[in-house]
Amino acid sequence: MKVTILGAGVIGVTSAYYLAKAGHQVTVIDRQSGPALETSFANAGEVSFGYCSPWAAPGIPQKALKWLFMEHAPLVLRPKVDYAMISWMIRMLSNCTSERYAINKSRMLRLADYSRQSLAELRAETDIAYDERMQGTLQLFRTQAQLDASAKDVKALAADGIPYEVLDREGCIRMEPALRHVSDKIVGGLLTPKDETGDCFKFTNALAAKCVSMGVTFDYGRQIKGLVIEAGQAKGVVTDTGKVLSDAVVVALGSYSPLLLKPSGIKLPVYPVKGYSLTIPITDASRAPESTVMDETYKIAITRLGDRIRVGGMAEISGYTNDLGPARRRTLEHSVSDLFPGGDLKAANYWSGLRPMTPDGTPVIGATNIRNLFLNTGHGTLGWTMSTGSARVLTDVVSGRKADIDVSDLSLARYGR
Ligand SMILES: Cc1cc2nc3c(=O)[nH]c(=O)nc-3n(C[C@H](O)[C@H](O)[C@H](O)COP(=O)(O)OP(=O)(O)OC[C@H]3O[C@@H](n4cnc5c(N)ncnc54)[C@H](O)[C@@H]3O)c2cc1C
Repeated sequence: MKVTILGAGVIGVTSAYYLAKAGHQVTVIDRQSGPALETSFANAGEVSFGYCSPWAAPGIPQKALKWLFMEHAPLVLRPKVDYAMISWMIRMLSNCTSERYAINKSRMLRLADYSRQSLAELRAETDIAYDERMQGTLQLFRTQAQLDASAKDVKALAADGIPYEVLDREGCIRMEPALRHVSDKIVGGLLTPKDETGDCFKFTNALAAKCVSMGVTFDYGRQIKGLVIEAGQAKGVVTDTGKVLSDAVVVALGSYSPLLLKPSGIKLPVYPVKGYSLTIPITDASRAPESTVMDETYKIAITRLGDRIRVGGMAEISGYTNDLGPARRRTLEHSVSDLFPGGDLKAANYWSGLRPMTPDGTPVIGATNIRNLFLNTGHGTLGWTMSTGSARVLTDVVSGRKADIDVSDLSLARYGR
């Protein structure tokens, strides 16, 4: 089948790889000049199959109120008269119950675990390199209250059979020796040892090159304007330089997916949640992380990527803007200097990206009520982590095959539309 994929971020490119492998004739269209130049460009680098949770969690509404007044706040809210923003926030808050959290987390873990197997297989098949490491994620607690509160995550990990270790201060230092210099600041941690790290931009570019060798066409510098739908069936897309026709269309436009779908009557509950990162050249490896450390206090991830430290995080609800203000940079600099001051901050690259967030944290993968129009989008905080499993699920749905995992709750149908 001739399949057009809209978007060459990590989701579009992994989709292209598996669809081409399944024998489809694939074209990927993107407005940028190459792969992974928007949200997949400089994310925090965690491939966190175990440290994988929805942001909508019990206690979040109360914490969010507190965060709004913190200097180095994990959450920034810039309210607007925007129906999409307001309705997304209401739906997100309605997912903050223990019952919804357990359902959403278990669904994310299922997809993440499938991605863990899929990424390992993909690495073996393609031999691509992307500054990858396999040393786990350490969620770092600075207070006893944080350590106690992790009990609900431990319960979910145990229930889903995901390996974990609860560590005391010495245990954290064993995993991340640079923490020895700041041992008085930490109480303990939760290690998910099967987690990995890697540069999403390098991965996506290397995989795109592999896709080209498999016959995939990449059509860059093309703005997608709309869908071609005839008699209830997707037939292609309209771009600024003409139509592209195909048998099937896959929407993988990240945060921009709902804007394309809206005129066709598809209401996709995805909203952009902005995050920021700094990429810092390492000058003293003894004060740099070995893998990913998730600082629970600031909700900031600090990751080793080759000879660089990537520090990323924060959730800013402010619509479609990539502005880079100085305050967020100060927060990232504060968090990384406090724990891992082994880099040259003056030479750091400051970046922002828009996470395509669903209210329940799980992406939307599968068919729509328009024939041959498929979605693989809404990967929010963990799109790099969930990319390979999501792309395999998508490929099975497009190809009419039974997927390896339960996919009944991954499509748009779970929102009752
Ligand atoms: C600060 C930050 C830290 C993060 N950390 C992690 C992490 O550690 N681990 C993890 O797993 N995930 C992380 N994420 C999330 C992850 O980066 C995203 O979920 C993922 O990149 C989304 O990929 P995507 O392909 O859906 O979107 P994108 O990468 O944004 O790709 C969408 C593509 O669509 C194209 N496009 C959009 N509209 C149009 C149009 N109209 N015409 C043509 N082209 C169009 C864009 O150019 C873009 O290339 C983080 C995100 C942020 C912001």
